[in-house]
Amino acid sequence: MIIETLRLGSYGANCYIVGSEKSKDVMIIDPGAESIRVKNLISSKSYNPKFILLTHGHGDHIGAAKDLKKEYNIPVYIHKKDSAMLKDERLNFTNMMFKNGVSLNADKFLEDGDKITLDNMKFQVIHTPGHTPGGICLKNKEVVFSGDTLFKGSIGRTDLPGGSYDEIIKSIKEKLLVLDEDTVVYPGHEGKTTIKYEKENNQFLK
Ligand SMILES: [Zn+2]
Ligand SMILES: [Zn+2]
Repeated sequence: MIIETLRLGSYGANCYIVGSEKSKDVMIIDPGAESIRVKNLISSKSYNPKFILLTHGHGDHIGAAKDLKKEYNIPVYIHKKDSAMLKDERLNFTNMMFKNGVSLNADKFLEDGDKITLDNMKFQVIHTPGHTPGGICLKNKEVVFSGDTLFKGSIGRTDLPGGSYDEIIKSIKEKLLVLDEDTVVYPGHEGKTTIKYEKENNQFLK
């Protein structure tokens, strides 16, 4: 599986380019800023972007989505509960983060349990509210992309509008910690981890 990591923008959000080695079909997860770096990587590796998947609607994860959607003429996916945020530059904070605010419409609304196919690969949507109401994680057999829900040794902040500490803990315990312990977690910020490591070391989850 192709997993490329780009740490984008002044908030350092992880953008993941994920796809199939064989066809080079890829999805772009959370293009937060600096669309030029995403485009350069895609063209240098001859990847075929098929869609943009947003783990949630915050500006540091969506900042380059509009530009890349236009560049490649590909759809944008987000959970329906974060779609209003995507459309409003005040709700997604891009009016404060960037010189120009970003607002866009999603093309497909995701729900818990949805299956997403990319070439011969299958991914499953896991709705994990708590950081935002429509936060999602995306998993396949070996990996899970956890957005701002679960970080190495930490969890997403819950003090922003729509956030809930009780909900994020419930989401992580009931939907992520139940995954195979060897699952590699690719978070929205900082480095990767595993379910096993978080079970043993994450103080928020004791
Ligand atoms: Zn966030
Ligand atoms: Zn973030």
